[in-house]
This record gives sequence, structure tokens and C-alpha cells, in this order.
Amino acid sequence: MAILIDSRGDKEHRGLRHPEKAGRPDTPLVPKPAWIRVKAGGSPQYAETLNVVREHGLNTVCQEAACPNIGECWSKRHATMMIMGDTCTRACSFCNVRTGKPGPLDGGEPERVAQAVAKLALDHVVITSVDRDDLDDGGAEHFARVIAAVRSAAPNTTIEVLTPDFLRKPGALEVVVAARPDVFNHNLETVPGLYPAIRPGARYFHSLRLLQQVKEIDGTMFTKSGIMVGLGETREQVLQVMDDMRSADIDFITIGQYMQPTRKHAALDRYVTPQEFAAYEQAARGKGFLQVAASPLTRSSYHAGDDFARLREARRVLQAREMSSIR
Ligand code: SF4
Repeated sequence: MAILIDSRGDKEHRGLRHPEKAGRPDTPLVPKPAWIRVKAGGSPQYAETLNVVREHGLNTVCQEAACPNIGECWSKRHATMMIMGDTCTRACSFCNVRTGKPGPLDGGEPERVAQAVAKLALDHVVITSVDRDDLDDGGAEHFARVIAAVRSAAPNTTIEVLTPDFLRKPGALEVVVAARPDVFNHNLETVPGLYPAIRPGARYFHSLRLLQQVKEIDGTMFTKSGIMVGLGETREQVLQVMDDMRSADIDFITIGQYMQPTRKHAALDRYVTPQEFAAYEQAARGKGFLQVAASPLTRSSYHAGDDFARLREARRVLQAREMSSIR
């Protein structure tokens, strides 16, 4: 039986990274197909990104989630900040982020995130967080403080937040929307039928409704959501999620391959082929999403800056077309 220890050279050697998964049987390993090829790290820019992250005492989801794209993204200085600590109060079966009881919020974090964003000279930053069910507002105020600090230190940087679901945190969503990020992203992660196994602490329709509410509060804010495939979902279920997202007026969908972080995590059902991803992309565009990213290595924050530029342009074109049809 494999023992789950922190394999990332954890600063404090805090032992089991996923204590709740330790007693689970090992899931089978599925060999990676030839089409999953990632770029190695090691470039000077990669090292520079790592230095900035370390110097500012930040966590990144790139490292915590063991993202396969880290070599490519960090070579472009694109790091996705993970705020409010490195320990999550949920225990989703797909996720590599440490689970347990988090520490208190770090009041200096918003300023350090902002300084790091300025130093990395990012055109677009994605800011995500662990889930903080222990906080009365789920961390919404902290998100707002980080957004304000980045706006002040890097006024030309566009900001995308990838938030928790703020389940049973009334008023939290409104606080984050009022801070005016450019993109509000919250991932549905999988099809509703797989929630009990994959995302047991969350509720599919609550997550969908969260994104719909963003648009109700501020119709100009871009909304984005993503799912993983390869967990056992059917094509029909994925198409239904797309329809649900469009009903909630979500602008941008991301679809990427689930990759099992360890053998204690949810079993990988299969590797979805690049042709199937292309078909998903075509279907999503047909359903009216302004922007679609669907490929084996797609992640919420992968190429997020370039995709944000495309998203804005797609809205501009759509609005121009609507105006000309009125005249
Ligand atoms: S895809 Fe996102 S999480 Fe992964 S390395 Fe790139 S920026 Fe980080």
C-alpha cells in the first residue's frame, strides 16, 4: 500500500498531505498516452518565477496541484496564486491540495501577492484559493483585499478570480463581485452524477447558481467555468453540463483531462482523445460560449491571459453584430 507523504519537500514536514485518503485502496494506474507531453521546467525564466514566489512567501496552485503545465507556464512567468494558505477544508477526491485545518488568514498576503504580480509584470493574473469553510465569509473579504491590492500595484493587469463555491456563506459572493475582478471563474469540475464521488462537499446546482448570480449582479463581468473529463462521465452528460452553463449565461468553458495525483485519488477512467476534445470544443462553440478551451492539458488558468484577450474580442464582435442588426 502506498503511503501519502508530502513529496514536495514541504517546509514544515507536516506529514500526511491527505490524511482522509490514507486508508483508501490504491486505484489502478493507467499509462499516459503519447499525446500527453509536457514541457520540462529549468529555464532561467522558470527559476525567476520560482524566486518571486518564494521571496514573497506565496503559494501557487501550479505547485500545490502538481500541475503538468508548470514547465511551460512558469517559463512565461505565469504563476497562479493560491491565497488563504495551503490547506483546504474540503477533501475532493480529484485534488492534490493539502487537506486539513488551515491556519489564520495572513493579513500581509494581499500586498505580497500584489508585489509579486507587479514584479512578474503579468498582463493577466489568476488568483485562486483553498476552500475556507472555517471562515464566516469563506474568505470573500480576503479575496476583495487581494483584488484591491493588485489593482493598486499593477493597474494594467487584468484579474481573474477562481473562487470556492461559498456554500452556506450568504453575502460572500457579493463581496467578491463588488471588488470587480475582470473574470469570475468557478469550476463545476465534473458532471452532476459524479459529485458524490468526486466533489462530495459541493452541490452542482449551487455552483451553477453562483455563476448565474454573478451575471445577475453585474452583467458586464465575464464568467468562466471548467470541467475535467476522463472520470467516467458520458458525452451526453458533458453536453448537458454545457447546456446548464449556457442557461446560467457562462461565457467561457474549459475542458481538460483529469490526471490522477496519486493512487489514493479518484480513479482515472480513461484518457479522452484529442479528437474527442476537438468535438467538445465544436459542440461548445455551437452552444454559444464566447470562448472555449478544450484539450488534454487545458486547466482553468492555462493560457488564461491569451484566452481572456480572445474572450473580450468575442464579446466586442458579438455586441457590434447585435448593434448592426438593430439599425
Ligand atoms: S495551467 Fe495554471 S495551474 Fe497549471 S502551471 Fe499553468 S498557471 Fe499554473
